[in-house]
Amino acid sequence: MCYNKNSCRETIYCQDEVSRNAREPLLSVLIRYIYLILTGLILLCAYDIPVRAEQSLAVKFPVGPLPDAQVNVRQSGDLLYIDLNSFADALNIHTYINNAKGKIQFTVGAIRIIFTTDNAFVVVGSEVIQFPAEVIWASERFWAPLDAFLNTFTGIYPAEIEFERYSWTINIRPSKFDTYAIEYNLKGNGTLIRISCSKLFDISGAALRNKRLSITLLGAKINRKAFESTPVSGAVKKLIVEELPEAVQLTFKLNTNILEHTVWQDENTYQINISLITKRISSESDSEAIILPNEEIADFLEDEQEKWKIDCIVIDPGHGGKDPGAIGATGLYEKTVVLDIALRLQKLIKKETDLKVVLTRDDDTFIPLKNRTKFANQAGGKLFISLHCNSSKYKSAHGFETFFLKPARNESAMEVALLENSVIKYEESRSQYQDLTEENYILLAMAQAEFARESESLAAIVQNKLKIHTQQNDRGVDQAGFYVLVGASMPAILVETGFISNKREEKLHKTKKFRQKVAQAVFDSIMEFKRQEERKSAATSSAQR
Ligand SMILES: [Zn+2]
Repeated sequence: MCYNKNSCRETIYCQDEVSRNAREPLLSVLIRYIYLILTGLILLCAYDIPVRAEQSLAVKFPVGPLPDAQVNVRQSGDLLYIDLNSFADALNIHTYINNAKGKIQFTVGAIRIIFTTDNAFVVVGSEVIQFPAEVIWASERFWAPLDAFLNTFTGIYPAEIEFERYSWTINIRPSKFDTYAIEYNLKGNGTLIRISCSKLFDISGAALRNKRLSITLLGAKINRKAFESTPVSGAVKKLIVEELPEAVQLTFKLNTNILEHTVWQDENTYQINISLITKRISSESDSEAIILPNEEIADFLEDEQEKWKIDCIVIDPGHGGKDPGAIGATGLYEKTVVLDIALRLQKLIKKETDLKVVLTRDDDTFIPLKNRTKFANQAGGKLFISLHCNSSKYKSAHGFETFFLKPARNESAMEVALLENSVIKYEESRSQYQDLTEENYILLAMAQAEFARESESLAAIVQNKLKIHTQQNDRGVDQAGFYVLVGASMPAILVETGFISNKREEKLHKTKKFRQKVAQAVFDSIMEFKRQEERKSAATSSAQR
């Protein structure tokens, strides 16, 4: 506890002074007394951390990728509680809050955790876990019992989380494992095994023989301890983890005959699913063996509907102020072009729809990358569109392309990301942006994982409309790690309208006509995406009801 230590240091200092000055024995005795009491208090601290009504806990990322943060903690009864809102902010976790129902939902990769005020039952994926006490709502925030929360969270978050009680710090380091957790879910017709991974694997040998199912993950680095300490259930009697030189083999010993089994990996969340069907379901009503209480499901669907109403568009004109962005063949600034396109797009949306539209900047000012998505989230944005112009050392490079957030899969996509990310050289606190290494990247992309499919689909629509409106070279949709898209809790894309390093394209970008065409193309894309998603969402909810 630093405040105790500090006062203690002051005391020692005073005491030295006093002993030098023996003319004031009374003061000396008094200070010695205070010193003893403080020493006693510090010793007590070593056993139990005293917590005042509210104080903060440091969340540190010693090797990145996020900046260190403070999270509030408070005591209520015998338990310590952690502020879920500030914890989610610190880790860049996508949350969905329904104040009317007293619920906060975290999305971590493919797993949703739902906390409900005055309720000790927490929904984690398809399981319900009981906390030692209820989640509380106080000071406009959700609070969960600290230890239970960390236990649950550590099991699903793809990083190493270590809580140092003595320094009151949570250290978060990218996991050295890419296969980090397993869970067993009982379904009406069998068992579903879910394995959390952070990359796509070449899965081979899903062989079932003599009540044993073995799968081999080539090149996997497995958190063996986590796998071996997770209790097996359902059709699984035992799990054997074998680490081979080039692969990891998981063997599930089964306690019953399996009628059918499937192994597949989700391309967006990287989760490996293994379904073991043990009985045929005769009537349809039986097949819903989801453990979620019915009310939760209904709530959840309602929330999903609300969430999908695309009613607020965030337009992000890249760069600005001291950061000109790319500079054209004859000196045209990227920041000027994209601001003009953004204003045109805003005008179109306002004129044609009743959607809310916000710009991250509407004049020539510099805005740090991080603040752009933060602003978008705070504004309640449902789509994030970052506008940019490209530049290349190859003067002939030309055409438009659209990106979404995922590790770059080729050199040229990586180059565009590096170019756009280089903006951070203009930012004062540069150290908060660590290199987007593969490990760091995984943490950053967690919040976007849920939106990867939508973002990709929006990107494809934008490419299509740009082709129709501008008749320029379509370079296609690509993925890369853009800082500006990190942390957006909504589908997010980055549009490169063309190469201003190319003389012909620079000339185009100088004209009002071309800028208007680009604005119109993006506007049409938003409308089409909105129609498509709302149709999809309506279809899902009516099918599930
Ligand atoms: Zn740019």
